[in-house]
Amino acid sequence: MAKITRSQRTKTSSVRSVPKKTAKAAKPLPKPAAKRVAKPKPWTAAEVFEAFSRFRKANPEPKGELEHLNPYTLLVAVVLSAQATDAGVNKATRALFAIADTPEKMLALGEDKVRDHIKTIGLYRNKAKNVIALSEKLIAEFGGVVPRTRAEIESLPGAGRKTANVVLNMAFGEHTMAVDTHVFRVGNRTGLAPGKTPLEVELGLEKVIPPEFMLHAHHWLILHGRYTCLARKPRCEVCLINDLCRWPEKTV
Ligand code: SF4
Repeated sequence: MAKITRSQRTKTSSVRSVPKKTAKAAKPLPKPAAKRVAKPKPWTAAEVFEAFSRFRKANPEPKGELEHLNPYTLLVAVVLSAQATDAGVNKATRALFAIADTPEKMLALGEDKVRDHIKTIGLYRNKAKNVIALSEKLIAEFGGVVPRTRAEIESLPGAGRKTANVVLNMAFGEHTMAVDTHVFRVGNRTGLAPGKTPLEVELGLEKVIPPEFMLHAHHWLILHGRYTCLARKPRCEVCLINDLCRWPEKTV
């Protein structure tokens, strides 16, 4: 067996161990430049006025599409409309409201029959419970009448801020702004009232829309989102406000 000499050992070890001083420190990779998304220019008061003037001219008396007979049936219809389409709710409530258009009649009908009437609507079991519970509360605390304040409406089972805004606006003519999925999308896309939550969009819209348009603004924006500014394929080519809209992806 061949002997390894001292000089050979030294040579071998000098190859294996790289002196710390000469080892190159790995350079950190340069960070990719942060993509800048330009914030859309806020609408001027004149532009907002122009947009709502066009909505008004095209549809002076916009109507909600939830069928109802009085404030009570409107309240029930809105509670039933959570995560459901207006058309689907109307289909179920036509027969229901024909026999129960007051809290007293709804209680007399009972939860089982209410459930049968609304079983084509999503979450119907829970909604039937809420309809009975809110009818009981209306009778016990509000004389069987739909109250006229936001806090009171929000205190009813199944009713949240959006329900209160719709009822206050449609039944009592208050200048409220109910933000559903359509209004939320339109507020953000157009840049009229950008916001991460429905409440942010609601407050933003209330701030920019002149009072003279507020009674119908909610319906104009819902209808705009439902029939023109569609979620997947907005119809920018026929949009009334396409010259004012700030959406970078608009197709005109
Ligand atoms: S231009 Fe297009 S994206 Fe903008 S509001 Fe109209 S439909 Fe919506």
